[in-house]
Amino acid sequence: MTPDLSIVVPVFNEASGLPFFHQRLSACARAVADARGMRIEIVYVDDGSRDDTAAIASELPALGLDVQVVALSRNFGKESALLAGLDHARGDALLFMDGDGQHPPEMIETFVSLWKDEGFDVPYAIKADRSDEPMPRRMFVRVFYRLLNFGASSRIPEDAADFRLLSPRATAALRRLPERNRFFKGLSSWIGFRQKAVPYRPAAREHGSSSWSFLRLLGLSMEALTSFSPAPLRLAGLVGALLAGAAFLYGSWIVVERLLWGIPLPGYPSVVVGLMVIGGVQLLVIGIMGEYIARILSEIKARPVYFVADHAVRHAEPAGERPAAVDLPKVLP
Ligand code: UDP
Ligand code: MG
Repeated sequence: MTPDLSIVVPVFNEASGLPFFHQRLSACARAVADARGMRIEIVYVDDGSRDDTAAIASELPALGLDVQVVALSRNFGKESALLAGLDHARGDALLFMDGDGQHPPEMIETFVSLWKDEGFDVPYAIKADRSDEPMPRRMFVRVFYRLLNFGASSRIPEDAADFRLLSPRATAALRRLPERNRFFKGLSSWIGFRQKAVPYRPAAREHGSSSWSFLRLLGLSMEALTSFSPAPLRLAGLVGALLAGAAFLYGSWIVVERLLWGIPLPGYPSVVVGLMVIGGVQLLVIGIMGEYIARILSEIKARPVYFVADHAVRHAEPAGERPAAVDLPKVLP
């Protein structure tokens, strides 16, 4: 029997928090499943963790829900892990969430209710405020979304999280997108349907540290931008046009000065500055085009986005033999 909902959780080096997270998630998901008579499965994607995450995940009990564990052959990055989850999920509807405890599983009920009761296709969590984040990161994020949405036909909401549910038709739409360079937040808003933002406050990470260094964030942003929006190319064109316009005006001004007032041409510093500006802008634009060409190359090579090393499915016990709902410890074990 196909589940009604698959919950996809990418995990990378989450060994210390995973057993507790699994209990918490299972309790919330099972409450929803029992209340609405739904079948729910959980799909963990181990993204080539360097700690015991894969071993621990493969031991997790099926607490009234089917559990799939897909272990990738190495660390492919979160977006690839999400795609692996999408490919292995058997459910009609999908829910993506992080495995580090920052996305509260209690919100699953809200999402399911928005989907089932109010007919929304893509309820997604959006950060209520970012004041907890360092200033440079916030500014970076702001600039990133400005660029991403610059001249775009569909706006990608700022501050939205990967924490979201996709209804069966939204899931079907997402499955039809063929690209390899994936930016899930962008894609799942690009497909349209009825979207709904749900404000939330991400919990502090329960353990470990975020795997996003500034350089990694920069890399992901560049990938997201170039696979999603032609804005950088347009901006490059705009800068070129502005520079050319300024050069033309300045050139005309020199000619007028020379002809009307006989002022001699100023010396070479202006020439050198002009050369440097033009040279710099050209290199920048070549760099931006290079990013797009790299994207094209990787799409043409059509390599698989990930490889699966191990795949296990554990089925929930039949209804009569289910253990009573687990009591959650109030603090971390
Ligand atoms: N993650 C992953 N592969 C990676 C990096 C992260 O699957 O290469 C997972 C990670 O285990 C977590 C989620 O993606 O469940 C979000 O990662 P993280 O907490 O590091 O990001 P942040 O919350 O800072 O955006
Ligand atoms: Mg996190």
